[in-house]
Amino acid sequence: MGETVDMTEADGTRETVRRHLAAWWETNARDLPWRFGRTTPWGVLVSEVMSQQTQMSRVVPYWRSWMAAWPDAAALAAASTAEVITAWGKLGYPRRALRLQECARVVANECHDDLPETYDGLTALPGIGDYTASAVMSFAYGKRIAVIDTNIRRVLSRVFDGRESLGGATSRADRELAQRVLPDDAVRSTVWNQSVMELGAVVCTAKKPMCERCPVSAECRFLAAGRPGLGERRTRPRQRFQGTDRQVRGLVLNALRAKPQGSQTIGREEIRALWKDRVQLDACIASLDEDGLIEMMPDGSLRLPD
Ligand code: SF4
Repeated sequence: MGETVDMTEADGTRETVRRHLAAWWETNARDLPWRFGRTTPWGVLVSEVMSQQTQMSRVVPYWRSWMAAWPDAAALAAASTAEVITAWGKLGYPRRALRLQECARVVANECHDDLPETYDGLTALPGIGDYTASAVMSFAYGKRIAVIDTNIRRVLSRVFDGRESLGGATSRADRELAQRVLPDDAVRSTVWNQSVMELGAVVCTAKKPMCERCPVSAECRFLAAGRPGLGERRTRPRQRFQGTDRQVRGLVLNALRAKPQGSQTIGREEIRALWKDRVQLDACIASLDEDGLIEMMPDGSLRLPD
C-alpha cells in the first residue's frame, strides 16, 4: 500500500515538473536557428557536433555560414579539407571538423545523401556517438528517446535525486533516471529533452544555479535539501589554456587560416615566430600533421591539406 502511495507521489511530481518545464520552454527557449523545425536533420546534426565542446551561443555564426556554404552532406563531402578547417574557425577541437566531413562522405556516398533515421544507422556513421545520435533522433526526427548530456544529467540528478551530479562517465543510474522521467508521448519527450537541456545551460548551471528564477524550484529536491555539495565534481578541473598544446596548435592553425584561400602556407621563419618553445612547437606541429589537420612540406613549410 505504502509503495503505491510513493509511486503516485513520484508520478505526480514528474508530471508537475514536465508541465512547468514545458511552459517555461514555450516562452524562454533561445531562438537558435536549428530549432523549431527550421533546418534539415543534417543541419541539426551539424549543430550538435559544433555544440559538443563549444557554447551554443558561440556556435550560431559558424553554423550559419557553414550551412550556407554546405547545406547538405554531399556539399560538405565535396569541399576541400583546407576550406573545412578554415570554416571551423575558432570553434576549437578542430578534429571534429574532419570527422564531420568524414561523416558527410559516408552519408553522401553510401546513404544517397539522406541522414539515417535510426539510432543504429546514426551511430554507425564516423564520429557519431550515443549523445549525437540520440539528439538527432529526438530533435530532428521527433522520436521518443532519452538524450543524456552533462546538462541533462546535472538537472535530473538535482531535481529528482536531490544530489549533485559529479561528472565523469554516464552511469547506469543516470540512464535509468533519464528513462524513468522521459514522457511516454513522443512530442512531449522531445520538448522534455530540449527543455531540461536548456534549463541546465541557462538556469541550473554547474556552479551558480539561479534557483530563484527556476520554473521547477518548488519540486527540486536538491534545493529542498539546501543544495548539498553544490559545484562538486569528480573530474579534475579543466586545464588552463595558456601555455597548453591546445593553445600552440590553435596558433598554428590560425596562422594558416589567416592566409588567402588557395595559398594557405606558412614558411619556417613564420612558424618559429609563433611560439618560443621549439620542442613544444615541433611536437604540436607533428600532432596536427598526424591528425590530418596540416601537411608538412619537404622544405619545412606547412599548409592546410587539399
Ligand atoms: S531549483 Fe536550483 S538546483 Fe533545482 S533545478 Fe532549479 S536551478 Fe537547479
